[in-house]
Amino acid sequence: MNLEDTMKEIIEDQGLDYTERVRTLYTTCPSCDRSDKLSILKDNGAVICYHGGCDFGRQWFQDWLSQTAGISIEDAKKRIYGERIKNIDRLPTKLVTEEEKKVVLEKLEYPANGFLDIDEKEAHEGAMYLEHRGVSTELANHYDIKYSPWFRRVVLPIKMGGSVYGWQARAIDKVDALDRMRNNEGFRKDQLLMFHDNLYLHKSAMLFEGPFDALKFHSFGGIVCSMGKNVSKRQIELINESPVDVVYLGLDPDATEELRGLTRSIEKKIKILTIPESCESRCEKAGKKADFGECSFLEIKEAFETAKDFSDGHVFVHLKKFF
Ligand SMILES: [Zn+2]
Repeated sequence: MNLEDTMKEIIEDQGLDYTERVRTLYTTCPSCDRSDKLSILKDNGAVICYHGGCDFGRQWFQDWLSQTAGISIEDAKKRIYGERIKNIDRLPTKLVTEEEKKVVLEKLEYPANGFLDIDEKEAHEGAMYLEHRGVSTELANHYDIKYSPWFRRVVLPIKMGGSVYGWQARAIDKVDALDRMRNNEGFRKDQLLMFHDNLYLHKSAMLFEGPFDALKFHSFGGIVCSMGKNVSKRQIELINESPVDVVYLGLDPDATEELRGLTRSIEKKIKILTIPESCESRCEKAGKKADFGECSFLEIKEAFETAKDFSDGHVFVHLKKFF
């Protein structure tokens, strides 16, 4: 069976529908759940979700299957390629699309109408939310974080070279996971790195998935945020071309595959940040997932001071823990 037919069969096995175009199949995205935005190239299994703000970005059909079926990448590859698994290394590793060729980033007006400074009276609820996430008003002002009373969201700008090219707006209320974060129109997560200019102000970079994890480490180095567990090729380029000597990785430990890929493509000394035991056990007791957001300032300091030099063995420990 050829790749195209195998992929169709697998999609149906997952109980999903697909729409067929000349060169692509459209089916449900495991990240944003939309069925009209995720396209799969029939001839090589390259997958893209075009939904703005969706974390899926550009991956391969094995990633899609792994995330959709909740199985490991290895098992997904076996299901797709079967006996041909030995030839897996010959699969194309570069994914260039028509869309990618014409990326032009536009500067945005920031703050947009109705975005208030955090210390304004009408921004009080935004300030409270930020305080709760461990972000002081002073720190919020440092990063030009604003509050929109109309949308009830705090807004984090993505500045690169001093200009704003995008923003993320986080709901301060409990909302559906899919609605928690909104971006400006035309937002290109894969092309932007939040807090980018820190790379030129510090000797070390500290890379996180989410802005609130990152902000906790503000006083320890040049924090940057990939805005999702998939760190894009461009985001890695931006780090590699910066003058930092060391990159601390503070990614979610269950992003093992991503971590492995990252350690291969970052051309700097790499250190791994881990969540201190005290936070792990406190969260376990409370039935919560431990992350840097749950850490006290002292635990953040401990994580920084005990960061380990990267070695493959370290990633292997993570692998054993999560697979
Ligand atoms: Zn999606």
